[in-house]
Amino acid sequence: MSLDVQALRQEFPILSREVHGKPLVYLDNAATTQKPQVVIDALVNYYSQSNSNVHRGAHFLSDEATRLYEDSRTVVANFINANAREEVIWTSGTTEGINIVSKGMAQRLKAGDQVVVTELEHHANLVTWQQACKHSGATLHVAPIDDNGTLDREAFTELLNKNTVFVAMPHVSNALGTVNPIVDLIRQVRTHAPKALVLIDGAQGIAHGNVDVRAIGCDFYVFSGHKLFGPTGVGVLWGKQAVLEDWPVWLTGGEMIASVSYQDATWGALPNRLEAGTPNIAGVIGLAAAVRWFQQLDMQAVQAHEKALLERAIELGAEIEGLRLIGNAKDKIGVYSFILEGSHPADVGFLLDRQGIAIRTGDHCAQPLMERLGVPGTARASFSIYNTLEEVEQLFVGLKKAQTMLA
Ligand code: PLP
Repeated sequence: MSLDVQALRQEFPILSREVHGKPLVYLDNAATTQKPQVVIDALVNYYSQSNSNVHRGAHFLSDEATRLYEDSRTVVANFINANAREEVIWTSGTTEGINIVSKGMAQRLKAGDQVVVTELEHHANLVTWQQACKHSGATLHVAPIDDNGTLDREAFTELLNKNTVFVAMPHVSNALGTVNPIVDLIRQVRTHAPKALVLIDGAQGIAHGNVDVRAIGCDFYVFSGHKLFGPTGVGVLWGKQAVLEDWPVWLTGGEMIASVSYQDATWGALPNRLEAGTPNIAGVIGLAAAVRWFQQLDMQAVQAHEKALLERAIELGAEIEGLRLIGNAKDKIGVYSFILEGSHPADVGFLLDRQGIAIRTGDHCAQPLMERLGVPGTARASFSIYNTLEEVEQLFVGLKKAQTMLA
């Protein structure tokens, strides 16, 4: 079954607006995706019909809000095939999820321990681990990539040993689109570094395929709602129940305690022990609406469509003199990072924007990766399910125009 992209587009009100007097061509989906009407409705309905605080009230609305909020947890747990709904911890996004894990890990790290990340990391999955190591005397090792942006599996495996206590890596690179073979890589970790826990940064992976945390075999998988057609300010930390159960608490305060005296406190059970304070209730409900909406799509058709968009981009890009594709891994999602020789990515982005085409330019929160690849930054078009082949073509017509203006 192929994807009915035109019908899909109708569900996204923002896609029919104009910018600078031109129809919007939104190609910045790796930064954030647009929201279908069902997600917008879920937020409006919550605030107009059910708004109340969760878990605490003795009244109708509080019960209703709690039910919607906790049902959302079940929706997400089923979506990623968690073993239990208690394994789903609500966060503000990927960054917070990684911080909960790295700050907890920092309390356990000691001199001699080793943490492994990759050259593909977003700052969120790098700076956090640098900090954790810095304060504990553990060492951080960075697994290299080749010039196409593919992880060097042999070098990765060589970094693993009995002192490796943590491995963190992205499912998919936001800057290059590289898809890491995470199942195989985790197998290597289990063989060579049996003590290590593994975190997968799923910020970019979650919207592009069937994420099954049990099949992946990691200990933690984190993602943000806003990259999955959901609201900003909400995300998920999934962790194996046994691991989360005694994970150091993150925020302390209301909701996460079992009992409190003036001198001391004890912590509640999962998931609350890692969710102090009033949560982003509307965001959680909006995220569940996004997941329900996404789940009814044919995942094979989604992947085939995104592949067709990327292939068309690669084909058209090859016709433009001076355009260099940055990141050309064999297994790659719809992220098209490039530089136009002789021009700065920011100028390219500006000139495309004037034509209604939204891309992202800069280092994509991956400064060390840019340095590794020998570029100051790139222009990045990133595709989603509602993009059309015509829009990809418009990108390259726009680029040719920009190139003439920059000459
Ligand atoms: N990791 C990756 C791979 C990302 O692409 C991003 C966002 O672009 C993040 C982490 C951080 O996500 P957030 O800003 O939603 O916390």
